Amino acid sequence: MAWVQFPFPECPDCGKSWAVSRHRQCSRNGTMEVQPDSRRVRCDACSAQWAVRETSFYCSCGWKFSSSDADGAIAEIIRSARLLAQLIDRHNDEVARIRSQGRDSFQSWLNSLARGLGGVLGAAMGHVVGAVVRMFF
Ligand SMILES: [Zn+2]
Ligand SMILES: [Zn+2]
Repeated sequence: MAWVQFPFPECPDCGKSWAVSRHRQCSRNGTMEVQPDSRRVRCDACSAQWAVRETSFYCSCGWKFSSSDADGAIAEIIRSARLLAQLIDRHNDEVARIRSQGRDSFQSWLNSLARGLGGVLGAAMGHVVGAVVRMFF
């Protein structure tokens, strides 16, 4: 499975959430990506890498997430990634055909597959779709 951008979970203190998580005190101001299979986290700018369980997530308001909060968000990404991988396997013939029509067709096809899973998957699925598109193009 590809590296997936890690959406910042909603902060219980200030209620904000972001599409990506910043690598804190990063010299290059990078964002964090998670690899669902190995449960590793990396920075897309400074190429630091570490295990999910060693990750601390901080909100810009100063709130520090407990590791169980972050675990929940990562579990959602892993679940979304697995479901999408299964769907792609099941539609192997179509994947080749739609891919040949270009990136936009491929992305909207994946999005409609993801929507077909039911409305339970939120921001995490959007990032997983983005990661899969990057993997194929
Ligand atoms: Zn906050
Ligand atoms: Zn970094």
